[in-house]
Amino acid sequence: MFTNLQSGYGIIKTNIIFIPESWELMKKDTGNKKILEKTINRFSARKKAPLSGYIILLLFYLAGSIAVSFLARSKAEIPIFGIPLPFYSFAGVFSVVSEICVLFMAFYYGKKGYFTALCLQIVQMPMVLMGVFVQHKLTSIPGIFGNLLTIIAITSAYLNNERVERFQKEMRDQAVTDQLTGLPNRFACLKLIAALIEKGDKFAIVSIDINDFKGINDTMGFDTGNAILNEIASRWKNIADNSISGTLDFISRVSGDEFVLIIRDYQREEDILNTIKQYETILHNRITVDNTDLYVTASFGYAEFPHDANTKDTLVSYADAAMHEVKRSHSSNHIIHFTPDLLKVERTIELESKIRDALEKETLFYNLQPQFDMDHKLRGFEALARMKDVDGNFISPGEFIPIAEKVGLIDKVDDMVFRKAAVFFGELLQKTGADIVLSVNVSVRHLMRNDFFDEICEVLEISGVPADKLEIEITESIMIDSVDKALQCIDQLKEMGIRIAIDDFGTGYSSLSYLNRFPVNLLKVDKSFIDKMNTSESSRQYVAAIISIGHIMGFDVISEGVEDEDQLETLREIGCDYIQGFIWGRPLSKEDAEKLVTDMT
Ligand code: C2E
Ligand code: MG
Ligand code: MG
Repeated sequence: MFTNLQSGYGIIKTNIIFIPESWELMKKDTGNKKILEKTINRFSARKKAPLSGYIILLLFYLAGSIAVSFLARSKAEIPIFGIPLPFYSFAGVFSVVSEICVLFMAFYYGKKGYFTALCLQIVQMPMVLMGVFVQHKLTSIPGIFGNLLTIIAITSAYLNNERVERFQKEMRDQAVTDQLTGLPNRFACLKLIAALIEKGDKFAIVSIDINDFKGINDTMGFDTGNAILNEIASRWKNIADNSISGTLDFISRVSGDEFVLIIRDYQREEDILNTIKQYETILHNRITVDNTDLYVTASFGYAEFPHDANTKDTLVSYADAAMHEVKRSHSSNHIIHFTPDLLKVERTIELESKIRDALEKETLFYNLQPQFDMDHKLRGFEALARMKDVDGNFISPGEFIPIAEKVGLIDKVDDMVFRKAAVFFGELLQKTGADIVLSVNVSVRHLMRNDFFDEICEVLEISGVPADKLEIEITESIMIDSVDKALQCIDQLKEMGIRIAIDDFGTGYSSLSYLNRFPVNLLKVDKSFIDKMNTSESSRQYVAAIISIGHIMGFDVISEGVEDEDQLETLREIGCDYIQGFIWGRPLSKEDAEKLVTDMT
């Protein structure tokens, strides 16, 4: 894409960036070329000496030379401090001025300056020689030496400059070029993206990943892998350099088997798609390495500036997200445009791997939130799952629990929390003899597992927690979705003496007839009703109705998320049995929970 940018301009210099000549020129000459040149020049670390300086040097040289020839012939004299000095004695001063101009030209103006200086010196030579050999002016002999020495000086300065320049160019070249394929590298690509964002014109970033490249490397070796990457790079470079796609493209290799294509100069989204398709289709031709025919495919995800995002990092990550979606979906369509939905998918995948990691390393832990009766007497604790990421930041269960449910890890999460909390709770009961209950949350998936019941029995045995001190919290939706199976499980648990609580009550659609069929011990009124209870009369009446109906059916009722005195007062008035909320206790570490139990019993 940087093709018509010849060596002089072929440089993006933010200290070290430039466009190497090896990234050949695009034949297509559009206004974009100018933008690129500007971009590149703006990056120039070493500023070029201005053209005006060159003209001034040339004028000074000519003026000096004219002055020399005029003064050399003049017979006039000028008195200085009363001494008459002939004009020709000043010729040497102007001659030195001319020589200095010539040296500056060769030094600061590269090839152009050097050849101008050389020409001027060569043109001067016959005049000096004529002075000596034709006019027999012996005073011109030093002029011949001066002339020759200047030519030697400017030539050696020029050659030296060239050598340094070539070396610097090589260094810069390496910094921005991928050594394997010769394409621009990640650094160059990101710099270009930043420059294009600053420019403000629309463009698309395409993140490309070769499918199953690891497999090729593993089975055929790195040399074959490298040969394939080189072949792919050269095909794509050909499309970009020759404007085959019809858009202005920049292809770079950013790491291993990942490439980034930047597309500009398009009208509609179809143009982007058409361009990408060409990069995809060129891979359909077989690649022959060591007499073996190979076929590769790639995944392409793209994001547009400024439509999808307007910062470099976001654009790149959005294009990556789209590319990963192609890989994940295994669909026959290998090109996907970024959409915000993909971020949710990304986050799910990120959290899934964190959950797996936490399960594997057993770093998943729990907090215990106390529950109290209305006289502030401790009823027990609810075990709540907790997870931290590698930086030690908490990840909210509100976020990771639904994902664990979605990806089928919730039973493992429940199980780990249950086991750890039960072991602690068993020891706590033994130590303190307290009459308290441990509540654990169980998801529908977990409850429906055939070995759920055995697991409960096993944990009770290991931990020594009596069955009647264990409470299983089930959300209302379980009952609605799978009544029969749920009933069967619940009956079994009840037979063992385990308590059953219905969590988040009021948020689902369970009818009274269902409730009647479930042998439940406790209804947990959802926090959302408690929140509104003192601002909305209907919410207050709703909570009061739940409590009354719960009592009629023989259940206890606990209110969740009680935060202030007014709520507590109202709950007392309408006959609530228990509360769980920040007002009397946030979720605690096991050490703090133990302290609370010892303080209260
Ligand atoms: P939940 O079972 O309804 O748990 C109560 C949630 O309300 C907890 O949030 C608790 O910290 C919060 N909470 C309690 N009192 C207050 C209060 O006064 N104010 C406020 N703002 N919040 C209060 P947490 O720990 O974030 O858990 C969220 C949900 O995640 C739980 O809701 C439960 O459905 C689920 N969960 C937590 N641990 C587990 C687990 O081990 N297994 C399963 N399946 N689900 C779990
Ligand atoms: Mg709960
Ligand atoms: Mg709840």
